[in-house]
Amino acid sequence: GIRLKDEIHRVKQMIQAAQIKFVSEGEFTLSNVSLLTENILSMCLKEAVNNVVKHSEATSCFISIEQSWKETKLMIRDDGVFKGENNILAEGHGLIGMKERLEFINGSLELSTKDGTTLFIKVPNDVK
Ligand code: ATP
Ligand code: MG
Repeated sequence: GIRLKDEIHRVKQMIQAAQIKFVSEGEFTLSNVSLLTENILSMCLKEAVNNVVKHSEATSCFISIEQSWKETKLMIRDDGVFKGENNILAEGHGLIGMKERLEFINGSLELSTKDGTTLFIKVPNDVK
């Protein structure tokens, strides 16, 4: 399994290699989440950034992580143009797989496609 701290390092390299500006906020060393939850967050981050690099034509990408006592929120935003269908979360590949894995751990995925693409990922913490 991959820790979020390692994955953020890798996606930073990917984004910068694609000539996209990288900005991040928050502490990527998580507390109060299981390894399974952290691995799923890492997979989501990787898949989201693959999409930014492959589809968005963005000039910048912003990634933030925020933990409260009860949940962990991960946001991946780019300032490109969303290229998918309106019902993209009902069918497809990477995004639907991400949503299914998150729902398996009682998390959620929301997508905003106004002014680029933003993914809002939320998972409950395992240890309180
Ligand atoms: P796969 O993930 O299996 O390689 P994919 O990337 O095409 O295939 P999804 O990750 O589900 O599939 O994304 C679905 C579609 O949504 C993409 O084909 C693309 O048109 C659009 N899309 C997703 N993320 C972005 C993004 N960050 N910017 C622009 N378009 C996006
Ligand atoms: Mg994809």
